[in-house]
Amino acid sequence: MTERYARLGQFEFADFSKLRDKKAMVVGVGGLGALTAEIMARVGIGELVLMDYDKLEEANLNRLIYNVDQVGMPKVDALKEHLFKANPDVKITTYPYDITDGEGYDAFLNEIAKCDIIFGCVDTFQVRLFINSQAVKSRKTLVDGGASNDGINGSVHVVIPGETACYRCNRPLAREEKAQTHRSDGSGLCHFASLPTTMAIISSLQCQEGLKYLLGFGEVASYLMYYGLEGKMERYDWKRDPDCPVCGKV
Ligand SMILES: [Zn+2]
Repeated sequence: MTERYARLGQFEFADFSKLRDKKAMVVGVGGLGALTAEIMARVGIGELVLMDYDKLEEANLNRLIYNVDQVGMPKVDALKEHLFKANPDVKITTYPYDITDGEGYDAFLNEIAKCDIIFGCVDTFQVRLFINSQAVKSRKTLVDGGASNDGINGSVHVVIPGETACYRCNRPLAREEKAQTHRSDGSGLCHFASLPTTMAIISSLQCQEGLKYLLGFGEVASYLMYYGLEGKMERYDWKRDPDCPVCGKV
């Protein structure tokens, strides 16, 4: 372990040098995903795969990580540039594609098979369901993060196929329609509020649970809900649905 990881080496609950052999995928590199990728890079993950079809727009600059001179770049490439400066030891592969379609879909399926963990950082329900079902099918652990549309609450859901409830288990009314990705109108303005503080809290929780899973320390919380206005967090241990169409037979 080099000097840059010296303080992590003092952490008594896990051996961070084991992260060098791990590969993580981050799907969606907006407010949540960019920070999730940065944290994982700084703690020394071996490889990162970044997937997002969006280009950086001025309206994204309230999020962390991105800079003014990167506006117009594919977000995954802007993030790669930043992460390389933060930790050049990390191997980073970028895919500026929609994971539900064409070459993005092929790349997603190809990479998911080689990853140890997937961080889901997308902002639509249908894409979450899509990532969830592919993760379960591939028997890969998914750490899904999300913030509420008003920007103040958030949640983290850890799906360990065959062990914990999947994203679909507790949403029996959800239908597996073809995923419709949210395309911006070019102005970068989405209808939802985005607060960088909430995003940082949720992405940090995603990484914390992800690290617990990857390094085997503590007890992975399968579902955490953060309530920003009240300043509280609740853990829920959802039961698996034996009739779940996604994970019922896993
Ligand atoms: Zn399920």
